[in-house]
Amino acid sequence: MVDLRSDTVTKPTPGMRKAMSEAEVGDDVFGEDPTVNALEDKVSAMFGFQAGLFVPSGTMGNQLGLNVLTEAGDEVLIDETGHIFNYESAAAAHLSSVQLHPLRGEGGKLSVVILQNMVRGGHDWEPNTKVVALENSTNKGGGCCYRRKELEAIRSYADNHQLFIHLDGARIWNAMTATDISPGFFGLIADTMSVCFSKGLGAPAGSMILSSRDRIRKARRRRKMWGGGMRQVGVLAAAADYAVDKHLSLLKEDHRRARELARTIDSCDGLSIDPGGVETNILIFDVREGTAKAATQKLQEKEVYLSPFGPGKLRATFHFQVTDEDLKKVKEAVQICFG
Ligand SMILES: *Cc1c(COP(=O)(O)O)cnc(C)c1O
Repeated sequence: MVDLRSDTVTKPTPGMRKAMSEAEVGDDVFGEDPTVNALEDKVSAMFGFQAGLFVPSGTMGNQLGLNVLTEAGDEVLIDETGHIFNYESAAAAHLSSVQLHPLRGEGGKLSVVILQNMVRGGHDWEPNTKVVALENSTNKGGGCCYRRKELEAIRSYADNHQLFIHLDGARIWNAMTATDISPGFFGLIADTMSVCFSKGLGAPAGSMILSSRDRIRKARRRRKMWGGGMRQVGVLAAAADYAVDKHLSLLKEDHRRARELARTIDSCDGLSIDPGGVETNILIFDVREGTAKAATQKLQEKEVYLSPFGPGKLRATFHFQVTDEDLKKVKEAVQICFG
């Protein structure tokens, strides 16, 4: 079976398990886990932030980011395909008492043109527009990445309107790989940024929220309040550290395989895709007839697993445990089912 449902389905490699078993650990709620502390220092320095906080999931990272940037009654501008808007159980309303304002961007990306006139007037009866939430690379937006100039323009718009920027960088690793933007640049753009080690990098769990020292101190209290304080969690931080060191350089191969599959999909009469829009490891494409669910079932009979992703849409996601041989099987299955 070839599993392209998500880049979260990877399993820890023998090397990663070895690193985990050898990790020095301590009680991280006391701040005494050396492996966690080293990872927080390494990743925050890498992305140009003062501090980082290891958290159980990307969702917690995003919610902590919004929480430390906002007060009750604030509003967050976000693309309508955003993970925070679609896949976080309305947590921003529940945990931070803020409103999400979804906007229609392109490929999941916002721009200065789209943000224009979206900052409210500051009357007592209006939500207080406080944050622009970006996602890079996009998930439901189809794996698209921001270019350097686009981010600089949004940063200067945010500065002119006293807005903060939260960057959902669950797949920032893929975005860096696809655009050749160095990681330190993102620290200049975002006030808070979340990154995931458990997507294409292949760690079993773990994410990080990055920001200033003061905000991370606040996030640390919140993490404990929300039940995310973990003890000898250096075993997971060791997996994350291993993933950054050993797996980051493999992402470009995932992107190549995704582009290759996009060409096959483009050649099938029963499917439609914009192959030029495939920038990273994610492909979202349409089935011309029948439901997405029926299409996934058809592929499952050929041992290929994809995710239904909205009406008539399928998502295929590459990760480093999908080989070229697997890709060949997927292409054959797609041609047999939809050619
Ligand atoms: C996966 C993902 C997250 C975090 O998901 P968790 O399952 O909570 O780790 C956040 N943002 C994006 C864009 C994602 O794809």
